[in-house]
Amino acid sequence: MKVKRAEKYGFCSGVRIADMKVKRFAAAGNTGAILGQVVHNERVVQEMEDLGVRTVEALESVSEPTIVFSAHGVPPSYHEKASGLGLRILDTTCKFVYDIHWESKQAREAGHHLVFIGDPNHREVIGYTNDLDPSTYHIVSTVADIEGVDWSQYENIKVFYQTTLNAEDYEEVVRAIEARAREVRRADTICYATKENQDAARALAEDDTVGVIVVVGGKKSANTKHLWDICKDAKPSYLVQGADDLDPAWFAGVDIVGLTAGASTPDYVIDEVERRLSSL
Ligand code: SF4
Repeated sequence: MKVKRAEKYGFCSGVRIADMKVKRFAAAGNTGAILGQVVHNERVVQEMEDLGVRTVEALESVSEPTIVFSAHGVPPSYHEKASGLGLRILDTTCKFVYDIHWESKQAREAGHHLVFIGDPNHREVIGYTNDLDPSTYHIVSTVADIEGVDWSQYENIKVFYQTTLNAEDYEEVVRAIEARAREVRRADTICYATKENQDAARALAEDDTVGVIVVVGGKKSANTKHLWDICKDAKPSYLVQGADDLDPAWFAGVDIVGLTAGASTPDYVIDEVERRLSSL
């Protein structure tokens, strides 16, 4: 069986840089703790633990000298809180996430009401909103979420998207706000890395020579799930965390299998999956 990789897949620049920063930190003999998964991939979390950088869920649980903030970013107040606890900070927040922190702060100061399209439980969105007065923003992801709000009370609204979303999926939601509000501006915050991986997955899904697609990524990774959704709309597609999850029965009669991977999937996991597929 032949394997055809998507044109773009796997680690984005933000995660590559975060991964490199943590590995350099560990290689220099430092120990630390990462607040939340460095990326949403269980293999990477284990790899980091093996390097002496374990994952914690709260700043108060850190006994190591350094706290690592992941590529998703944290609420600005966490920097002061960490310093107050005597911790050093290794900040690997992605530049694009910092752009949204900055642009949403500017919009708030200019008097805009903020709307974040995304998952209120995602750490990136928590980073944008945790420190804000709840009356200054909404987090929405469905048309039902916007019902019951008098959007006309706000003079100006600025809409931000969680970086890893597919903007097209939320067009209806943003239009519904626009139909009810006085003035709405959209910030262009979808990360290009996500879009490139999605476009390449779409091309693979539309490729008639490809019989089945394998999407590699963590089960908690939102962008991996988006890739899987794109693929399975077109043809049989399977989400795996690694080579051991592959079931040969999926590939009966298939000559070419498509391969793509979420933005939090390390290269070595993708290579392992490709080797196993090629051996089938
Ligand atoms: S997906 Fe985009 S925004 Fe998120 S970490 Fe990667 S480069 Fe940054």
